[in-house]
Amino acid sequence: MTTSVKPRAVIVGGSLSGLFTATTLRQAGWDVDVFELSPSDLDSRGGGIVLQPDVLAAFRFARIGLPERLGVDSGDRIYLDRDDNLIEQFYMPQTQTSWNLLYTTMKQALPAESLHAGEMFTGFEVEGEQIVARFSSGRVERAHLLIGADGARSSVRRVVLPEVAPSYAGYVAWRGLVPENALPPGAADILRDRFTFQQDSGHSALAYLVPGEDGSTAVGERRWNWVWYRRQSADELAQLLVDRDGTQRTFSLPPGALKDADIAALRAASGELLAPAFQSLVASTQEPFVQAIQDLRVPQMVFGKVILLGDAAFVPRPHTAGSTAKAAANALALASTLTSTQHDGAHLDAALARWQRVQLQLGNRMTDLGVALGDRLMNL
Ligand SMILES: Cc1cc2nc3c(=O)[nH]c(=O)nc-3n(C[C@H](O)[C@H](O)[C@H](O)COP(=O)(O)OP(=O)(O)OC[C@H]3O[C@@H](n4cnc5c(N)ncnc54)[C@H](O)[C@@H]3O)c2cc1C
Repeated sequence: MTTSVKPRAVIVGGSLSGLFTATTLRQAGWDVDVFELSPSDLDSRGGGIVLQPDVLAAFRFARIGLPERLGVDSGDRIYLDRDDNLIEQFYMPQTQTSWNLLYTTMKQALPAESLHAGEMFTGFEVEGEQIVARFSSGRVERAHLLIGADGARSSVRRVVLPEVAPSYAGYVAWRGLVPENALPPGAADILRDRFTFQQDSGHSALAYLVPGEDGSTAVGERRWNWVWYRRQSADELAQLLVDRDGTQRTFSLPPGALKDADIAALRAASGELLAPAFQSLVASTQEPFVQAIQDLRVPQMVFGKVILLGDAAFVPRPHTAGSTAKAAANALALASTLTSTQHDGAHLDAALARWQRVQLQLGNRMTDLGVALGDRLMNL
């Protein structure tokens, strides 16, 4: 335990949930430390994210100076048929940002000494009012609150809810990012400034512009983000998730890990099924990546002084465009509740119970919505 009089939270997981929680809790007067399994930065992992109000609210609460432009705006939503014909168009303005931009901005807002990379959480014990968290390095950390922000395969959840695990929804998201100027002009002219969809029987594609890798939103420096949902049996998925080095992965392959044969098969399938604009996106992507769509929900988020949030608690399917917003909402609600709460046992317990009531509703609502949208879209 530090000698500080402030209450202290140990956060397991240094991805978006962990960083939303750390930045907002600090503002609520807590000492925070974030322990992340990965020894290096995570910023190559994500693609585009629809910027939702909850994300902006968490940034404001945490007093994080926002970059002048957090994303790229799109105006119309358009739907293409298999031949690039426009079959539907309506005005639905929104802003698309990138996973990297949110991650980097929050990381820079935290003191470097509160971020601990290469630390794998292994378990915890309760000692009176304190939680004693253990890490594979032998490190032991004491805190008033242990926060599992460690994603869909959460180790914290495995201790408190060993029976809950994610399940495969029956389809995958193929994804890619393309430098703005690398896309042939014909395709770029169709897609630019729009949120574009192609919906067909059992598969569905979408694309929009996001900031460049360095966060730039200047024309020519942005990136095209595309997603193609396709059904895939569990057996096919297991094969697909063997990476190019022969390692069996669990739910996703990052850029650079797909086998050449699978990239070739993806390109061939895009030629058969996708509109030419989407075919160009797939063909222009040097390192496509893939994520299995999974479902996860917990019956409970608070276990004494241990809590679960973000993807460790609920994984809504991506059609809700809300996982990142939910992570922000979980963190912001927690920090808001704890701002006005003394951290002794009874007060903290009551505050956490209030937080859980609302966050469980949010998680269940978004998860139900994602399942309904996804199953309809994929004819499941
Ligand atoms: C590969 C990938 C790509 C994604 N891309 C997008 C995207 O483009 N757009 C979008 O909206 N959403 C994306 N998401 C989802 C989005 O990132 C999450 O919904 C959001 O970040 C909240 O997730 P999280 O932080 O709760 O969990 P995660 O992002 O899964 O992070 C959990 C973190 O916990 C760490 N961890 C796990 N176990 C331990 C342990 N035992 N000890 C210490 N640390 C541990 C992991 O290394 C990881 O960094 C992506 C998620 C993943 C996994």
